Amino acid sequence: MAPASLAEAWDNPGLQVGNPGADVTRIMVALDPAPDVISSAVSSSCQLLVTHHPLIFKPLKSISFATPQGHSIHTAISAGLSVLCMHTNYDSANGGLNDLLARKIGLSGCSPLRISTVRELVKLVVFVPASHLEKVRNALFPHLPAQGNYRDCSFAAGGEGTFLPLDGARPFIGTVGKQEKVSEERLELLIERQNLPRALKDLLASHPYEEPAYDLYPLLNEGEKLGLGRIGRLPSPLSLGEYAGRVRDALSAPGLRYVGDPLATVSKVALCSGSGASLLRDAARSGADVLVTGDIKYHDARDAQDLGIALIDAGHFKSEIIMVEEISQRLSRALEENGFQGCLVMPCTLESDPFKI
Ligand SMILES: [Zn+2]
Repeated sequence: MAPASLAEAWDNPGLQVGNPGADVTRIMVALDPAPDVISSAVSSSCQLLVTHHPLIFKPLKSISFATPQGHSIHTAISAGLSVLCMHTNYDSANGGLNDLLARKIGLSGCSPLRISTVRELVKLVVFVPASHLEKVRNALFPHLPAQGNYRDCSFAAGGEGTFLPLDGARPFIGTVGKQEKVSEERLELLIERQNLPRALKDLLASHPYEEPAYDLYPLLNEGEKLGLGRIGRLPSPLSLGEYAGRVRDALSAPGLRYVGDPLATVSKVALCSGSGASLLRDAARSGADVLVTGDIKYHDARDAQDLGIALIDAGHFKSEIIMVEEISQRLSRALEENGFQGCLVMPCTLESDPFKI
């Protein structure tokens, strides 16, 4: 859901506190690992708390139980509660927080606002006896990226392979010292370079030959583009004032601030969950009519006016609290699909926006 490789360089996602080998049967999901959230996870007998914001962000020089953070770390460790966070890696991930926010505020056809990663693709070609084509193909499918709305894409064509087993060989087909001709399939697949090691392991485990023959070709095709923020379109243009009202309602916010002419037309919308003023120029450059984000400061608003782009400040909390319900459901589904029915995932229900309007 949030590959660690997608985290920004300054970020600190992953296991914050806890034992990676500990058993987990109850999981709580929350936005912030705040002291009351940690207490709630402990009193609900959870062994794992999954949050968006990290518990430990700036390097610690001490863990005094007298500070709120030190107290939280102590409480978690004493109760055997692990804390794991998925932060900018979840923001950027395909299907992550920015895609969720885009869906909530009515956007479609979204792409990243600032691309940070382009997946490198490799062509894997492997020669397989026809009898084992299905087995090898099925072993490789889980490692392949989706191509648009298509999964499990491969191509196979028949041909003739030759080999001569030398002394010491234990050939699956043929005998030592005798040249062999076999009908084989040439199986071709596109694979992300980062997934190669695991794919090759499964390839070697599923292939019947002692020395499977395979080739890896570097490609100029671009793989999936990932990054922070999103840019997409509304189904039909709206006035800025009307759209701001829709964003407020979609995020169940009591109100929000915006910058720009309420009667101006918006159809191309950029967004960044949480704190996205740093993406203002990217949004303006990509031709967005408005940037929806949180944590807008006075000078960001002035910059937006100068750049001729509108801003909607939906609040850091309101633009991110939506992850709690989403991650709870996705985790539950993933656990069930993988045979961990006994594991319970509960959304934390006590968090509220520190800002009142
Ligand atoms: Zn945030």
